[in-house]
Amino acid sequence: RAKQSGRNRICKFEPQMLLDALARRTLEMDLRLALQRDEFVVHYQPQIDASTGAFQGAEALVRWQHPTKGLVSPADFIPLAEELGLIGTIGQKVLAVACREALSWPSEFTVAVNLSAHQLTEIDLVQKVAAVLSATGLPSSRLELEVTESALLQDTDRTHANLHGIHELGVRVSLDDFGTGYSSLSHLTQFPFDKLKIDQSFVRRLPGDNNSVAIVQAVVGLADKLKMTVTMEGVEREEQRAFAKREGCQGIQGYLVSRPIASHELGELFDPHRVSDHEWNRTTPVEA
Ligand code: C2E
Ligand code: MG
Ligand code: MG
Ligand code: MG
Repeated sequence: RAKQSGRNRICKFEPQMLLDALARRTLEMDLRLALQRDEFVVHYQPQIDASTGAFQGAEALVRWQHPTKGLVSPADFIPLAEELGLIGTIGQKVLAVACREALSWPSEFTVAVNLSAHQLTEIDLVQKVAAVLSATGLPSSRLELEVTESALLQDTDRTHANLHGIHELGVRVSLDDFGTGYSSLSHLTQFPFDKLKIDQSFVRRLPGDNNSVAIVQAVVGLADKLKMTVTMEGVEREEQRAFAKREGCQGIQGYLVSRPIASHELGELFDPHRVSDHEWNRTTPVEA
């Protein structure tokens, strides 16, 4: 704020600025401690087949089990972690935990893990992913890595090499939050994506909003021609699932099926006796 006002200007001292700086500094120290104390936990949100309701796997979503604040959501610490250069360590931890926990799920289910922009520019990312797979014994075909479009803008050569390297390991690559941010259709052919995840901002307006309907239909058609699958994020209502099915989206993910839950709760949800009666839409456990 002070910088924007330029030279030769007097910037009035605002007590709020000091408070903000203090809060940020406290969060920074807390975050560094959290890594030492291992306070990060991974929750999982199931993904199902839009037509049959069968489980396909789950997305790993990190949370911070803060000693006094309780469960802190990633939106409240990932950006700072990214800025402080801590995201690589956190991301590596999430990847290892997710691969290990996925081994206790039925063997046809995949686990999706989010990669940050910073991780995509790491020189040894492919080796790190390969090392986690071999340490845990998870087959590479059961791992999916999600990247957002904004993460693709950072360092194109390295990012390009990393995503292709990951893909060559047999790991699947998904484009997350598709349609928001810096959509460039050239990304779709430049990088080896297997799946497009339609952002929840479009899904929220379905099926009533004609523009969102048109966008989803176009994305499904494009993905189909490019041999990619489509998953709809943020599906909260049955009519949105029905829309996904009708339009040919392969997967859905959202509160309609379940909020993100702990691995042991997911194990119960994945129980074959419960899956077989196709009553996935009745099970909506609430996040701890
Ligand atoms: P994302 O990867 O797009 O994950 C989907 C987010 O949408 C999750 O928020 C999920 O809880 C939320 N969501 C799912 N279904 C619904 C629904 O039906 N309605 C609504 N309103 N929301 C729904 P969450 O867990 O707070 O994560 C937010 C973002 O934080 C993620 O967005 C991802 O970009 C980032 N993130 C989470 N875990 C990690 C991680 O381990 N590493 C990195 N780099 N980023 C992460
Ligand atoms: Mg994601
Ligand atoms: Mg997303
Ligand atoms: Mg998101």
